[in-house]
Amino acid sequence: MNAMVAFFKSLSLKELRAGMAVTGRYFFGKKFTVQYPEERAPQSPRFRGLHAQRRYPNGEERCIACKLCEVVCPALAITIESEQRADGTRRTTRYDIDLTKCIFCGFCEEACPVDAIVETRIYEYHGEQRGDLLMTKEKLLAVGDKHEAQIAADRAADAKYR
Ligand code: SF4
Ligand code: SF4
Repeated sequence: MNAMVAFFKSLSLKELRAGMAVTGRYFFGKKFTVQYPEERAPQSPRFRGLHAQRRYPNGEERCIACKLCEVVCPALAITIESEQRADGTRRTTRYDIDLTKCIFCGFCEEACPVDAIVETRIYEYHGEQRGDLLMTKEKLLAVGDKHEAQIAADRAADAKYR
């Protein structure tokens, strides 16, 4: 019986007509093509782009070298070395993110207790050599310094939904 039903369905071209209906709907519907780079698609405050390290307003690094981000990273992309300062605080002496390993999952920023490591809206970057995609502490802090206003606004917007 099922074979008969399937036979008559195929004879009536039911699947083909359903497929053509979908094609027609998109053909005549509103187009979503974005003329990049003149036009940009909207971004969420939670966009997970290039990483940055943040500072407090007094210029002090936020990162306290707790290494939670390093532990939680599923791609083993983060490498941290640290030491204790004369004032008793702990700070990183090395903080690297290997973007060739990173899967942009956002676990590092979720795990960070002081909002130090974040992912920004930046997605236009490239590397011509492997080392170019190794984000050192200096590079991460430079990104954070440059984009702190946008990062802070995004974190504030995101906090409303937590
Ligand atoms: S975004 Fe994910 S994969 Fe990339 S460094 Fe952070 S935790 Fe690791
Ligand atoms: S970035 Fe955050 S989670 Fe990672 S070591 Fe620094 S304080 Fe800890």
